[in-house]
Amino acid sequence: MSYRTKTCAYCNGNHAILDCTKLVEDAKKAQEKLAQIANNTDEWLKEAVHAHAKAAFYYELDCNSDPNGNGYIVKYDGSTQTKKDLTERTIATVAWRLTEYFDTREEAREAVDPDVFDTFPTTVTYEERWSSRDADREYRPQSYRAIIRRHNDVQEAVANRAKKSCSYCRGAGHTVRTCSQKKLDTEIYHNAFKVSAYLRARAMSRFGLWTSSMVGKDGAYWTFTPNPNRTPYFLTELAPDPNGKISEEDLTDCLYFMASTERTSFKKMADESYYGSTTRMGFDISKHCLKYFDLENNRVDLSANDDDSTVPERFLPVVISTEHIFKQLMEYYKEPSPKKERYASHDDVGIADCRHLWEAEQNSWRRNIWISSTELYDRKQRNSRPFDQMVKFVEKHSDILKKANEILNKN
Ligand SMILES: [Zn+2]
Ligand SMILES: [Zn+2]
Repeated sequence: MSYRTKTCAYCNGNHAILDCTKLVEDAKKAQEKLAQIANNTDEWLKEAVHAHAKAAFYYELDCNSDPNGNGYIVKYDGSTQTKKDLTERTIATVAWRLTEYFDTREEAREAVDPDVFDTFPTTVTYEERWSSRDADREYRPQSYRAIIRRHNDVQEAVANRAKKSCSYCRGAGHTVRTCSQKKLDTEIYHNAFKVSAYLRARAMSRFGLWTSSMVGKDGAYWTFTPNPNRTPYFLTELAPDPNGKISEEDLTDCLYFMASTERTSFKKMADESYYGSTTRMGFDISKHCLKYFDLENNRVDLSANDDDSTVPERFLPVVISTEHIFKQLMEYYKEPSPKKERYASHDDVGIADCRHLWEAEQNSWRRNIWISSTELYDRKQRNSRPFDQMVKFVEKHSDILKKANEILNKN
């Protein structure tokens, strides 16, 4: 994922200046060039002054186009006045570009031979004229120093970047924008969301809990109200039935159905009051509610109720596919992100530990399984625990993830 295209402030390449290799190479060349100049200053200075004189010659003088070719003929008359003008012009640029090599303007004047202008060709091609106007470009030590300075600044920034730690994973050498842990976590959460949605959908489809299903209670009918809650939840450490009466898949369906009813209400039909009037299935996630499931016929049988007044008398299921419910639940998926406001609660996942499902009541401090919310972030930093749990959950249900992906890839 790329947040924006980058343009290098040095070479205009498609990268940040901190990653520019051209600047590194140019700085190295500049360093070598300065070393060469220092080793042989007199020789280099002669070349440099010559180049400045050449630039002045082709810059200052007018041209005619060459009747015998494609280029130009420079209007150079070789007069003393012309040489004097060109010398002054050369001294002016030398004083600016090579200032550290001359103590006075007189010294610069001595370095410029007025007869040098007689040596420059007056018949030149288009390219020769324009490149000669720039002849002094290679003889600007200040520009070499500027490149080295810039390189040093960038290297300092690179070192600071390496020291900085990521606000998401606290790792060094990168920021949250390039955090590979964050990319991985987003994928883990997405996969866990898909598996959770599929297991919920499978359970609800099997027993018919979705739009237009109803419960009958106290002589009235109440219709299913979907709860647009996008928080995924999942059950971990599912302990198998110690009596071996119920298969793991059946148990999974029953538990996810119970969990779904905890998050579902039914609205009283023909009730126009503002707050409406709602009722619930009255199930919690416990072994006590397993008696309501007729697994052979894939139906919820509330006649198994003996004394629980919160459970309705009748449940009227709806025929609906797992795929349909799954796709509806996936509509609520959103990538997790930390909240902007400091004290806002973060995106979370619901996690229920089912290890104690089968334990006798007297040994357990509560009779049902509780889905508790765990935040994915602590401020901007990741909480590793829910992600570790999601990884295990997805691994355990890799077959479900495959089915979920098949449905999503179909569309
Ligand atoms: Zn660059
Ligand atoms: Zn990171």
